[in-house]
Amino acid sequence: MGYINSLKCRECGREYPIDPIYVCEFCFGPLEVAYDYEKIKKALTKEAILRRENNLWRYKELLPIDGDPQVGLTSGFTPLIKANNLAKEFGVENLYIKDDTVVHPTLSFKDRVVAVALTKAKEFGFDTVACASTGNLAHSVSAHGAKSGFRRFVFIPATLEPSKIVASLVYEPSVVAVDGNYDDVNRLCTEIANKYRWAFVNINIRPFYAEGSKTQGFEIIEQLGWRTPDNVVVPCASGSLLTKVWKAFKEFNYIGLVNEVNTKMFAAQAAGCSPISTAIKAGTDIIKPVKPDTIAKSLAIGNPADGYYAVNVVKESGGWAESVTDLEIIEGIKLLAKTEGIFSETAGGVTVATTKKLIEQGKIGKKDVTVVCITGNGLKTQEALSGHTKQVYYIKPNLVSFEDTLQNIIR
Ligand SMILES: *Cc1c(COP(=O)(O)O)cnc(C)c1O
Ligand SMILES: [Zn+2]
Repeated sequence: MGYINSLKCRECGREYPIDPIYVCEFCFGPLEVAYDYEKIKKALTKEAILRRENNLWRYKELLPIDGDPQVGLTSGFTPLIKANNLAKEFGVENLYIKDDTVVHPTLSFKDRVVAVALTKAKEFGFDTVACASTGNLAHSVSAHGAKSGFRRFVFIPATLEPSKIVASLVYEPSVVAVDGNYDDVNRLCTEIANKYRWAFVNINIRPFYAEGSKTQGFEIIEQLGWRTPDNVVVPCASGSLLTKVWKAFKEFNYIGLVNEVNTKMFAAQAAGCSPISTAIKAGTDIIKPVKPDTIAKSLAIGNPADGYYAVNVVKESGGWAESVTDLEIIEGIKLLAKTEGIFSETAGGVTVATTKKLIEQGKIGKKDVTVVCITGNGLKTQEALSGHTKQVYYIKPNLVSFEDTLQNIIR
């Protein structure tokens, strides 16, 4: 009943059966899901999509499941907002925010990938789900895993923001805080995944998990009125989301849901962890791993699994990349909040500040249609703003005290 043919090595093209595997035995290339596009063309029409509920499963034929969706039935179809105030600030005309800070149960785009990964984990018969996370993935695996009855292990760097740890703990997974950075966590989890029969969503079932990110691209096309934008700015951690938004555009073009794809893809990173944007600016696709040091912890992957592919998508599309300092990230968060009323986490600050830079450099044109992907909610990383917000005015509960203070406020 499904629409997937096989898993296929991205490097040598060797095909594998649909199993919880992720790496080619011959060349060690990553495996990717291969679809039956001819069959999908017939089933996934505009009319079929428009009849369905407003969640990420409205494009289910292009997602790697065999049966019905089982997880994340209220995730996705987040707003695409015409950001006129921010556009004015930047001196451009057609700016949109893809707002993944809302709608998702755990308030980040990771609910897209987890909906697909856990549905697939059910199909494979796993009873335990796990992940190596920079924060948001742990929230999503913990929450959706709880709802769908899995045993849950989440592995995080011990230095994560306290509020991010609580936001996993509340769903009662086993939270394992590793003394190391994300890349250390990921290395350890790869070893654990080889030994225990657990579904590590971003390791052994990564080929399926990663496909969930495409739904952000599908939604952008549908919400723009079945066309692609001129530019998309995407924050990069492993680089997966950026490659999958591009893949989504190509797939909708291939099955005839959108006419042409002339979109430039732009990668946004923090200066304290910018292996992808550094490679793009240097004109190479060789990623040099770094040791992350940034407040944008959700993007702090020093050795990005899809970095090479992200660099090549940016190159193929004619886009570019930039990185921004911690101070620029905070300014980006505040600017988005006071222009558009959207409170994003540090990753959103990275994306907004990067967009500003790209516009100033002329890489993004004034009349272009540009979509900026804001991927997580600011309530998750409130610590980042401490010491960078306006003061609070403390008063006595009487009018005199208020009016004394008002003099100071409006002076
Ligand atoms: C995970 C994450 C990303 C980027 O993810 P990729 O690994 O590049 O796919 C972007 N923003 C937020 C908030 C995230 O949690
Ligand atoms: Zn191979």
